[in-house]
Amino acid sequence: MESTLRRTWSEINLDTLKSNYEIIKNKIGKDVKFLGVVKADAYGHGSVKVAKVLEEAGADYLAVSSVDEAMELRVNDIKMPILILGHTPKEQVGRLIEYDITQAVTCRAKAVEYSEEAVRLGKTLKIHIKVDTGMSRLGYLCEGNHFDNGVKGICEALNMQGIYAEGIFTHFAVSDEKGEECYQYTKKQFELFMDVIKEVERRSGRRFEIKHCANTGAVAKYPNTYLDMVRPGLLLYGYGEFAKEMGLKPVMTLKTTVSTIKIYPEGTHISYGGIFVTDKTTRIGVLPYGYADGFFRALSNKCSLMTEDGPAPVRGKICMDMCMVDITDKMNVEVGSEVEIFGENNPIEELSEIAGTIPYELTCAVSKRVPREYIKDGRVIEKELMLRM
Ligand SMILES: *Cc1c(COP(=O)(O)O)cnc(C)c1O
Repeated sequence: MESTLRRTWSEINLDTLKSNYEIIKNKIGKDVKFLGVVKADAYGHGSVKVAKVLEEAGADYLAVSSVDEAMELRVNDIKMPILILGHTPKEQVGRLIEYDITQAVTCRAKAVEYSEEAVRLGKTLKIHIKVDTGMSRLGYLCEGNHFDNGVKGICEALNMQGIYAEGIFTHFAVSDEKGEECYQYTKKQFELFMDVIKEVERRSGRRFEIKHCANTGAVAKYPNTYLDMVRPGLLLYGYGEFAKEMGLKPVMTLKTTVSTIKIYPEGTHISYGGIFVTDKTTRIGVLPYGYADGFFRALSNKCSLMTEDGPAPVRGKICMDMCMVDITDKMNVEVGSEVEIFGENNPIEELSEIAGTIPYELTCAVSKRVPREYIKDGRVIEKELMLRM
C-alpha cells in the first residue's frame, strides 16, 4: 500500500544499510559468514526490504524470531537460509521443511518433538542447537554441573532421526557492556561454548558446519568469537556506540512536521494534566506524533526534537496522536516545517538514554500507521503504508 501522507514518517535508507553491511563484512573478513538479524520486522526497518538488500549484498543467513516472520520473508521471495531463533510449535515442522527454514533447538523436549514430527512426515528438518552458556534464556543448560547432561542432550539430538544439526550457537548477555566484569562474563560464556562444542564433537564424532555466537557487542569488541558466522542486529542498523566507533550510520530517520503553531501567554497549562505551565509568552508547535506512533509517554517534558533552528523541547504530556514542542525562539520553524525525532541530527542514543531504555526499543516501537519511505540508490523507491486498506 502506497502512502501519500506526509505527517510523520520514517525514512529507511537502504544505501546506508548496504554500506553498514559492507563495513561490518570488511571487519569480519571473507571467511566468516554474515547472518543479519531481521526479527521484529528488522527492528522496525522492514524485514523484507532489509533482507533483499542483504541478499543482494551477499550475506549468508537471516534470523527471525518466529515462523510467521520467516514466512513473511519466504512469501516475499527471499531465498536465503533463515534461522528461527525462538520457539516454533511442533505442528509447524512440515511448513519449516517445505519452506526450507532452519529451526533453533533449545532443549531435549523440543528435539524429540521435532524429530518425531519430521519422521512422521518422512522428511528432515534443518536445525541449529542452542546452548545456554549464561544468558539464562533458551538453550541446553551447560553451566557448572549441568555440563555433562547438556553435552549428553546435544549428542542425543545429533543422533535423532528427522533432524539435522547444521549449526550450534549461543548468545552473550553482556558483550555490549563496559567493564572488567562484563569482559570476564563474556569470556566465560565463550569458553564454555567452546568446551561444549569440543566435547560434543569428541563424543559424537560429528562436526558442526556453522558455529556462531557474536552479536553486536561481540562483533565490535571480541573478534576471537567470530567463529564461522557473526550475528549482529543493532550494529547493522547503525545504532549504539559501537556503530559510531566503526563509522556506521543510522538507517532510520524518523521525521514529523509542524501541524499547527499557537502563541500562549505566561501561565498557560499545556496538554493533559497541566504538567507544563508557560513562564512567558510561548510559541508552541503541535506535532502529529504521539505514543500511538511509537513515542514514549514517559518522555513527556523530558526530551527535545530537532528543528532546523535546533532542539525544540517537548512540553507537557505526550498524547496518543500528538505532542507539543516549544519553538519560541525558532522563528524559521513554520507550519509544515520538518522536525527530526531521531536520526543523524538527533541521535536515538540520547533519546533512549533519557527514556531509560535502549535504541532497539525505539525503532521497534515505530507503529504501523507511520508510513515508511525507502531510499535506494539515492532516491525514494517506495512509500509504504502498513494499514489494512
Ligand atoms: C536479537 C539477537 C541477536 C542480535 O542482537 P544485537 O544485539 O542486535 O546484535 C543475536 N542473536 C540472538 C539469539 C538474538 O536473539
